[in-house]
Amino acid sequence: MLKSKNYIIIIILAIASIYLLKTIYVATNVELDVSEKTIDMTIESIEIHKEMITLDTHCDINLKNFTNQNNYTVNTDSQVNLPKMINGGLDVAWFIVFTGQGSLNKNGYKRAYKNAIDKFEAIHRLVEEYAPDQIELALSEEDVYRINAKGKKIAMIGVENAYPLGEDLSNIEKFYNLGARYMSLAHNGHSQFSDSNTGEEDNIWMHNGLSDKGKEAILEMNRIGIMIDVSHPSKEAIRQMIEISNAPVIASHSSARSLCNHSRNLDDEQLDWIKKNGGVVQTVALAGYLRDDISTELVSVKDLVDHIDYMVKRIGIDHVGISSDFDGGGGIQGWSDASETFNVTKELLKRGYTKEEISKIWSGNLLRVLTEVTEIAKNIQTNN
Ligand SMILES: [Zn+2]
Repeated sequence: MLKSKNYIIIIILAIASIYLLKTIYVATNVELDVSEKTIDMTIESIEIHKEMITLDTHCDINLKNFTNQNNYTVNTDSQVNLPKMINGGLDVAWFIVFTGQGSLNKNGYKRAYKNAIDKFEAIHRLVEEYAPDQIELALSEEDVYRINAKGKKIAMIGVENAYPLGEDLSNIEKFYNLGARYMSLAHNGHSQFSDSNTGEEDNIWMHNGLSDKGKEAILEMNRIGIMIDVSHPSKEAIRQMIEISNAPVIASHSSARSLCNHSRNLDDEQLDWIKKNGGVVQTVALAGYLRDDISTELVSVKDLVDHIDYMVKRIGIDHVGISSDFDGGGGIQGWSDASETFNVTKELLKRGYTKEEISKIWSGNLLRVLTEVTEIAKNIQTNN
């Protein structure tokens, strides 16, 4: 009895040992396999990332980081600055002349105009005084390639909210001359030009889309050569903008509403309008616009690329791009600041996008629209 009991124990131990060894063997091999793949992927993504121009259409700024003592030449506490752009391989940052919506009267317009000019001047100080050897302002697609070839970083300027224009549409040309190459007609809250997405909260609208001044502003932006940014205005305002505009539009920082139901995102119908119009949607890395089912701290680069995948499937590879909304609420796990930009390329490669496709998503599509908008403006100016 005792003898057979020992025998059984020995058999059990032997079987257990075989399983244990097998598990160790498999685990070791799997681990080796994964780490080899990770290394390959990393080297490949670093190379591919470096070869293409990476462009982020939405980086907010804070004037406290634009002084002689404290500016983007050092690692400021902002999500974007020159050391972070260099570390993460971010080539082009669109710095934003943002103005929050205030009251629609002379005093409000005056304050807003001053705020806008202060921000234009800050961006100019960065490229002209603080770091002219490291970063240069681009005004066109050709500028981007020219400056990139010199090994410098690239600044571009977008205007978020046309409120500072007041009632004077000649300010559009002034802003263009200061370097602005895109502008949205509203932010959160209705402006003198356009209803905002925020009207969905209470279903109270000011213009039922665009005001007459807003419709004029669209045509003036076409004439001057400023891209129309449809992030923030209401759905009806966006519909009217696309209907009136003679040029393709952009959404400088919006994601897909089918995946995250926020009024700042674009629903399938709106995505289809933008495809038809030849424009581009710059998928935004802002947690609250990417997932509505988990806490924002858990939202990651995977979720960003889920939105890119969705929109590429819906409207095609030529109409999708990337934005961060850094220093304006953006930033997710894996792309928490410009120094981690490389992770976005890595995830796109993992999903099977080719180098050519990733290059379109990172900058090709947005720059194509900018060039088209510029050419259309030239035609309008010569025919008038
Ligand atoms: Zn915004």
